[in-house]
Amino acid sequence: MKGIFEGRRLVIATKHQKEQVLRPLLEEGLKVKVFVPENLDTDLLGTFSGEVQRKEDPLSTARKKCELAMEMTGCDLAIASEGSFGSHPEAFFLPANEEWLVFLDHKKGLEIYARHLSMETNFGGMEFQSLEELTAFSQKVLFPSHGLILRPGAERIDELVKGITDQKSLEECAAFLLKKYGKGYVETDMRAFLNPTRMKVIAETAAKLLEKIQCCCPSCSSPGFAVTAMVAGLPCEWCGTLTRSPLAYEKTCSHCSFTERILHPHDKSTEDPMYCDRCNP
Ligand SMILES: [Zn+2]
Ligand SMILES: [Zn+2]
Repeated sequence: MKGIFEGRRLVIATKHQKEQVLRPLLEEGLKVKVFVPENLDTDLLGTFSGEVQRKEDPLSTARKKCELAMEMTGCDLAIASEGSFGSHPEAFFLPANEEWLVFLDHKKGLEIYARHLSMETNFGGMEFQSLEELTAFSQKVLFPSHGLILRPGAERIDELVKGITDQKSLEECAAFLLKKYGKGYVETDMRAFLNPTRMKVIAETAAKLLEKIQCCCPSCSSPGFAVTAMVAGLPCEWCGTLTRSPLAYEKTCSHCSFTERILHPHDKSTEDPMYCDRCNP
């Protein structure tokens, strides 16, 4: 792995200061020289506040950001992130932050990505009819260290004010909406530079990505040799029926397709009958 990236320039495709957390991790981990292009408008690919709808899934969107930055700068190494917010896939009532990071190397023909799901987020929004309601919400979502967005209604993109980070602006903006409409809609601004909690999740995703990049294929020594599939079928301890628990993990090299199977990844060769559909239906 050493030498593949060392000394090369790497462009971070961001306009929201994600380099704050990505630069130190990448420069330390890959020995690259990180830079951020000026005038890169990643908002063209979608905004959280809805003025521009994201057209593709997060992975494709992050890949596009990389390609946009590579085209603009002529750099052959790029990284970009894309976040989503909403209900946790397994705990529907709790908000979650999903982050994707994509690392592209056009010189070596590599694409390595990491996905990370965190329950640590201040993501939320609500309608308010008084300053008191607004204040209660703003305290709950860690304002003013975290930015806010105000607008006349949840789906409205006119009279939208983003990036509110001080009490005076918040009150002025709220007073305007309350006077004109008798209500307003407040929500968290999820752009990385206004949301330290999200910035932390991006850093955690980057750590995952680095770990993946640093793991090399035993056959062709390309970076990014990581788990790509789970093989279900760990047998039940009592009756031997194959359960849905993992029997093995598979790592596949995206470069040469070399595959390695890790049998019994959790150090057990049988499953507890409580997870067996026959013993414990
Ligand atoms: Zn390989
Ligand atoms: Zn069983």
